[in-house]
Amino acid sequence: MNPSNQLHYVKAKYDAAFKDASLQFKNLELARERATHARWKAIENLDSYLIEFEANFIKSGGKIIWAQDSLEAIDAVVKISKNAGAQTIIKSKSSTAEEILLKERVGIEGLDIIETDAGDYIADSMDEHSGHMVLPAIHKSVEEINSHFGLNNLAPDQLVGVIRDRLRETYLQADIGITGCNFLIADPGAIVITENEGNAQLCASAPKTHIVLTGIDKILPSLNYLDLFLPLLSTYGTGQKLTAYNSIITGPKQPEDLDGPEELYVIIIDNGRSTVLEHEVQRQASTCIKCGACQFNWPVYMSNPATNFSNPISAVTAPLIDNFESQEEAVRNSLLDGNLMDICPVKIDIQKLLIENRKESVEKGFEPRANKLFYFFWKKAMLNRDIMNWKGIKAGKYIMEGLYKSDRGLRETPSIAPQSFNEQWRDKLNIK
Ligand code: SF4
Repeated sequence: MNPSNQLHYVKAKYDAAFKDASLQFKNLELARERATHARWKAIENLDSYLIEFEANFIKSGGKIIWAQDSLEAIDAVVKISKNAGAQTIIKSKSSTAEEILLKERVGIEGLDIIETDAGDYIADSMDEHSGHMVLPAIHKSVEEINSHFGLNNLAPDQLVGVIRDRLRETYLQADIGITGCNFLIADPGAIVITENEGNAQLCASAPKTHIVLTGIDKILPSLNYLDLFLPLLSTYGTGQKLTAYNSIITGPKQPEDLDGPEELYVIIIDNGRSTVLEHEVQRQASTCIKCGACQFNWPVYMSNPATNFSNPISAVTAPLIDNFESQEEAVRNSLLDGNLMDICPVKIDIQKLLIENRKESVEKGFEPRANKLFYFFWKKAMLNRDIMNWKGIKAGKYIMEGLYKSDRGLRETPSIAPQSFNEQWRDKLNIK
């Protein structure tokens, strides 16, 4: 199965599961409204909630490291690992780790990180990055995975069993476990991790040191919000009422605890998030809870999961962080798909944010010369009735064919009407 067909197959399964899981909400629309409001409240008061989280977390024995950018975050991981004399480092799924290129960069320092999420393990062993925010190996077929591992037609659950067996000893040997987190809770200073495999729990509790990587935007004011956000995240993320394992971690191991790490670090990373917050309109992207639902409805991703900007939310934030310098592709090629807001649990109006990015990019003078010329002539043609009635048809045909030819044959070129509307109208009313 090619990656795009594989994605459509999984999406169909996801759609059915989502429908079932969403029935747990008496009023899904109201739940989304509440979640949207809560995330806005958290983001608008980020400064005070982050400080509250830090103070509470330190009280329980946890350590906080603030990292301005990805290099500071990597430095912190390397320092902790070297000080601990770490030989084996394990990691569960973390979009923040992907963002800062953790594995590649600590690899330069001679440290090897072993992925423990089955999807990440598969992608990593194929030298690929995660293919989806929530489901890292979603674009790989069962046949492909079997053949990669030299296995004989194992079913998906058997494949996961093989990966678990391979990793079992590693958990016991690991000196450091690295995880991401889904939410930081300001009161009482807690980390929340939701997952389905239990590997994040093992990464967080088996090794002596646990490092959590998180962006500054993961904050929620209090534990009271979890009864809303945990089911909402799992419904939109995987079409489950609730994920199988949900951990609330408030600090390192205490004397009365049976297990848990002796040292617990939370590295809180900015890495351009403050820049996104400076943009009054696009700031809304910071309320994202990383459920991944929009990827299933993002034509750019569904037709080519290997694209550089594989999710709409990073298509919004990456150009802002980069001040539009090198993200032309994300600004120009993003399809403005109006239904994305309807499928987002926190109602992010992605279409509006993408349009705002285009506007800012043009205002800052980043519009390509070819675009400027195109729109110059387009405007001339559109404002001239003679051209519209005569050359317009041929020009339209030419433009359409050009656009659809560059579409790698994914869509059929629509045929152009032999007469423009204006001509048909004139004929109908017999106007010469
Ligand atoms: S933008 Fe919305 S749908 Fe997309 S990942 Fe974020 S919360 Fe989920």
